[in-house]
Amino acid sequence: MTDPSSPASLTEEEARTRAALIEIERYDISVDLRQLLEGERWLASSSVSFTCRRPGATTFVDVVGEVVSARLNDVELDVSSHAAGRLPLPPLEADNTLVVSSVQADTGSGNAILRTVDPQDKLVYVWSSFEPDGAKRAWACFDQPDLKAVHGFQVSAPAEWSVVSNCPPEVVLDRDDGGRLWVFEDTPRLSTYVVVVNAGPFHELREQRGGHSLGLHCRQSLRPYLERDAEELFRVTEQGLAFFEERFAQPFPQERFDQVFVPDMGGAMENWGCVTWSDSVLWRTPPTYAQRQLVATVLLHEMAHMWFGDLVTMRWWDDIWLNEAFASFAATWAAVSATEYADGWASFLTGRQLSAYLMDMGPASHPIRNPVPDVDHAMASFDHITYAKGQAVLHQLMAYVTEERFVEGLRRYFAGHAWGNATLADLMRAIGDASGRDLAAWTESWLDRAGTDTLSLVGTTLLASSPDGGEPRRHALRIGSYTRTPAGLEQIGDLRVETAGTTTQLLDLPVADLHLLNDGDLTFASVRTDESSLQTLLAHAASLPEPVNRALAVGTAWDMLLKGELSTGDVLDCLLNVLASEQSPGVVEPGLALALQAAEQWSPTVLIPRRLARLAAVVVARADEPEHRHAALRTLAWSASTPEHFELLDAAAEGDFDLAWRTMVRRASLGRYDEGAVQALAEQDPNPEAYLRAYGVVAARPVAEAKAEVWEHFWRDRTIPAGPPAQEFAKCFWRPVQHELMVSWAHRYLDEIEALSGEGLLAAGTKVRAMQPTTCDQAWLDRAQDLADAESTIPIVRSGLLQAVDTLTRVLDART
Ligand SMILES: [Zn+2]
Repeated sequence: MTDPSSPASLTEEEARTRAALIEIERYDISVDLRQLLEGERWLASSSVSFTCRRPGATTFVDVVGEVVSARLNDVELDVSSHAAGRLPLPPLEADNTLVVSSVQADTGSGNAILRTVDPQDKLVYVWSSFEPDGAKRAWACFDQPDLKAVHGFQVSAPAEWSVVSNCPPEVVLDRDDGGRLWVFEDTPRLSTYVVVVNAGPFHELREQRGGHSLGLHCRQSLRPYLERDAEELFRVTEQGLAFFEERFAQPFPQERFDQVFVPDMGGAMENWGCVTWSDSVLWRTPPTYAQRQLVATVLLHEMAHMWFGDLVTMRWWDDIWLNEAFASFAATWAAVSATEYADGWASFLTGRQLSAYLMDMGPASHPIRNPVPDVDHAMASFDHITYAKGQAVLHQLMAYVTEERFVEGLRRYFAGHAWGNATLADLMRAIGDASGRDLAAWTESWLDRAGTDTLSLVGTTLLASSPDGGEPRRHALRIGSYTRTPAGLEQIGDLRVETAGTTTQLLDLPVADLHLLNDGDLTFASVRTDESSLQTLLAHAASLPEPVNRALAVGTAWDMLLKGELSTGDVLDCLLNVLASEQSPGVVEPGLALALQAAEQWSPTVLIPRRLARLAAVVVARADEPEHRHAALRTLAWSASTPEHFELLDAAAEGDFDLAWRTMVRRASLGRYDEGAVQALAEQDPNPEAYLRAYGVVAARPVAEAKAEVWEHFWRDRTIPAGPPAQEFAKCFWRPVQHELMVSWAHRYLDEIEALSGEGLLAAGTKVRAMQPTTCDQAWLDRAQDLADAESTIPIVRSGLLQAVDTLTRVLDART
C-alpha cells in the first residue's frame, strides 16, 4: 500500500487512451455502511463488466483507499501493485469482469464521503459527492466522465437508516447479520461523478407533482425548517421540471426526483435523480426574498444538469465551464420564465455578474474555455468566470440567435447526444444549424479570450474595444432612449444593434436625456454612455421603468468605482438614491449589500461611521414597508449606531432570533460585547447551530483575543460548515472599520494558506475564498502575490489569492 491520500491526477491524455481502449457496460456495486454507525469504515465491492477493443492491452482501474482483494476474469490480482490510487490490470480480454473489494477509512474529512454526527441529537448521517473524481474513493471504477455505464447499487445500512440513491429502491430486505439491504433499480448510463449514496435516519417528505414523485430529505433536527419550506421546494421543482421538459423537448425519464439536504457540504451536487444539497439553505430563521430566490436558483441549476451534464455529459473537464455556465444560465432563464422570481436577471446583474466583471478585469481572469490537462486543474475553474460570465455569455448567445432558434438548437443537441458525451463544438454546431449562423468566430471571440469589452457612446457612434487590443466581440444589444418627465424617466426609443468591429453608427438614435447602453442587460460588456446621459443615469436611475435597468445603472456605477473612474461617495449617492425607493425585491437586497460594501470596505476608515449612518437612515425608512422590512432590518443590523437604531432593532428582534443575533454582532463590533446575553440567546434559540451565531458575535469584537479564539474554530475544529455559514462568519470577523487590528489577521490568513495540506482541494479552495480578508496593507499585497506565484501553491488557491490581491489593491486605491 502506498499513501492513499495522494492519488495521481488523471491526465486528459490518459483518459483519452483509456476511453479508446475500453467501454463499460455496467457496475454492480455493493456498499456496506453498517460500520459507519459507530466507526469510520466505508466498505465496498465493485463488479465492473467491460469490453476491450484491443484484447491483450492493459490499463488501470481507479481506487483510493485500502484494496482488500481484486479479481479480473476470475483470476486473483496482486494488490501490492496498487499505488497512487491506481490498480494496474493485467492484459485484458474482449469481455471482462473485474471485482474489487475496498475499504475507505477516510470518511471524516469531507473528501467525496462524509460521515457527520448531528451535534444536537448525535444521529449519524453519511453523504457522498464525487465531482470531479471522488467516486474512486468510494469504490473501484474507471473514473472519467466519458466512460458512462449503468450502475446497480445494493447498500447495507443500519436498520434505522434510510438510503437514498439515484434511482428508487426496488426492495428493502432485513439482513440476517443485522441491518437492512437496499437494492436499487438500475440507473441509466451515467458518468461516475453523478452517482450517489446518501444514508441516515432522514426525515422524508414526498409528494406527487406533475407526473413525478418528488422527495425531500433532511436530518431529524432540521425537520421544522424543511416542513416550513417544503411547499415552495415542491412548487419550484414541479415548475422547473415542466419548463425544462418543454424547452428541451426531452422528458425527465424517471418518475422519482429526490433532493437530500445534508450537513457540512458546500453548495449542491447534480447527482442524477438525487440532488444533494448543503442543509445550510434550510434557513434557521424565516428566509428573506433573496434567500428564497437563491434556493430556487440553485434548485433549478442542479435540475438543469439532469439534461446538461447528466443526460449529455462533457467528454472531458475542459468543458466543465460549459456544464456550469449552462446550468447557471438555464436556472435564471427558468426562474424568470416559470416561477415567481421574475426579476431574476436583475438580481443576477446586481450580484454575481458584478463579481464576474471584477474577476474579469484582474489577473485571476482567464478565457471562459481553458485547457484542463488533468483533473486537479478542473477544480480551479469553479469561479465567477465559469459560472457567472459563462452564464451572461450564454444569455448573449440567446439574444444573438433569438430564443426560438436557441431552443431549436438545444433540442437537436439533446436528441442527438442523449446518454452519451459531447463537446462545445457539438453544441455550437446544433445552435448554428438551427439559427443558420456560423458561430465559429463568435465562439472563438467570446470563449477563448479573457477580459470584458467596453462599449462607449460618442455622439451617434458606438465604439467597441477589447482590453487585449484585439478585434472586439460582436454584441447584440439594445440601446434604450429616455426623456425626463415629472413622473420620472420615460422610454422614447429602443434601438436593437448588432456591433461589428470597433465602430457602429447609430443612425436612428433619437434626441434624449439618457441613452442607456445595454438596455435589458443582454450582453456582457462594460458600458460608458455619453457624459450628459451619465449624469442623468447617476442622478435619476431610481426612476427607470424596469428593475433590470435600475440594476444596470447601479452596476455601471460599480464598474466605474472598481476602475477608479468614480469616487466611492458618488457611487454611494447613486446606490442610496435607487435604494430609497426600489420596489423590486430582487434588486433591493443585492443593492443593500453593495451599499454596505461601499460604506465600509471601500471607504476610508474615518468616513465609515458617517457613511453607515446614511445607509441606516435609508433602511430605517424602508423598514416601514412590509415587503422590504426584513431586508432593511438586516442591513440596519450592520449599520446601526444610535440608541434609536438599537431600540428599533431590539423591538423587531422579539421572536426573531436571526435579527437578535445580528444586533448582538453589531453591538460586539462596537465594543459592547455581553457574554451573558450571548449565552442566554444561545440557550433560547432552537437552531441546532446557534453556537455558530455565538462565534459570529465573538468574531466581530474589536479585540485580538476574541479574534484568536474563533480563528481556531474556522481553521482547525471543523465546526464552521462551508457555504453560507462560513461566509456569514467571515463577514462578522473581517470588520473593515477595525482596519488596524485586521491587518495582522490578514497576515495570519496567509500563514494558514502556507500550511494548508491534506484536505480536499475543493474544501481548501472554499476556505481560502470564504475567509478572504476585506482589508490589508502593502506588505500583505506583496506577500500574497509571492505566495500566488509559488510553484507549490495549488491552482484553486492561487486563483483565490490573485483575486484577493487585485480586489484589495482596488480597495486601497479607492480609500485614498
Ligand atoms: Zn453546477
